[in-house]
Amino acid sequence: MITAASLLLLLHVAADLRVAPFRADATPDMGEPLIWTTPVTKIMDPLYAKGVILESKGKRYVMCSMDWCGISGSTHRMLTEALAKGANTKPEYVELHTLHQHSAPYVDGDAYALMRKLLPKPPLLMSDAYLAKLANNLTRAAQSATFQDIDQVGLGEAKVEKVASARRLKVDGKLVIRFSTGAKDPKMAALPEAPIDPMIRTLTFASKGKPVARMHYYATHPQTFCCDGRVSGDMINAAREGFEKEDGGAMQINFDGAGGNVTVGKYNDGSDAAREALAERLKQGIRDSVKATQWTSPGDVDWRAENIRLPHRPDLADHKAILAAPAKRTDIEIYRAAISVVFAERKRPLTLTALRIGGIRILHMPGEVLLEYQNFARSLQPNVLVAAYGDLQSGYLCPDVAYQEGGYEPSASNAGPGTEAILKGAIRKLLR
Ligand SMILES: [Zn+2]
Repeated sequence: MITAASLLLLLHVAADLRVAPFRADATPDMGEPLIWTTPVTKIMDPLYAKGVILESKGKRYVMCSMDWCGISGSTHRMLTEALAKGANTKPEYVELHTLHQHSAPYVDGDAYALMRKLLPKPPLLMSDAYLAKLANNLTRAAQSATFQDIDQVGLGEAKVEKVASARRLKVDGKLVIRFSTGAKDPKMAALPEAPIDPMIRTLTFASKGKPVARMHYYATHPQTFCCDGRVSGDMINAAREGFEKEDGGAMQINFDGAGGNVTVGKYNDGSDAAREALAERLKQGIRDSVKATQWTSPGDVDWRAENIRLPHRPDLADHKAILAAPAKRTDIEIYRAAISVVFAERKRPLTLTALRIGGIRILHMPGEVLLEYQNFARSLQPNVLVAAYGDLQSGYLCPDVAYQEGGYEPSASNAGPGTEAILKGAIRKLLR
């Protein structure tokens, strides 16, 4: 018999998880810088920040992914606060990530401040006016998001065919680096795809049998082209927005996993045809992952955080020297050196968080994390969804062996050997 008391309990349980999806424009204005300092000359397609506000037991959590190459330092903090304000929650409950397209901006406010202090003529910096407009877009989008009661959560996964491919390869015992347009060279295209994580994983929030929002997790650099003044969300945006049109109005949000050493290089020669084919194959992976969804009722929600401090790169003096004598240096060298120096002098810790909804876990990491850490997290919790590319000030986060081997990622990392024990320790604490 259903008593009044048990009916009240049922109503309470049914409404315990609410989700509000939102979308904000994040397209830079003409003349503003893309990675690293290239001015915008053409908008191919708009960039977005898309996310959800999740509410449970009176607490609100925000997970947002932006079509930018990187957001770090005080800029990451400022935009996180803008989202927290709009969602009426604490910044500590906001995860802001990027998808790491290279036809998009990369802004580090701490490096900007250092360059403004040290250099009479700093490189092209994103204007305060545009950043204020963007922060306002995020606040307003979160503020006007509509909550829906969630009665089912679903998890699906599927293999994505011929999109991700390894950037660090061992060929005859030697390290070979295959960049994002690797397939211009047939020899690079012929090298193996692995090691990658070929699976895309999808978390769906549904209300009364209708999907409200889907969050897709897949680990790869998404860029097919770079640094020529054209703004685009690239192939990942095309796949995501294309699927959104097929999916009956549910918001589609993509997160990049630990794809620091994964690119589309085996399959991308930089042509429009290659980009379109990659987008189609990724969209098929999204479709298959959605189709494979297994439903459960939402369980308890739990949010954990771990703060870490990472060692800086050993050759910091070289980067300081670039800033001390910038005359013969390029704008890119100067900006990247500035990010390296502010990372080494950083006071605020980096934070990893884990969200648990019943048996589903999402791990959020700062930095451009290499695949080895995603594999490590999944060895601890086989179902965990992994999002990297939070505050990106550290650059690449490599396993210690990569710092010994050398190659591209450690050379572009602002962190140093010793990172592995600290990062794995935090992942272990969050996922235990
Ligand atoms: Zn990268």
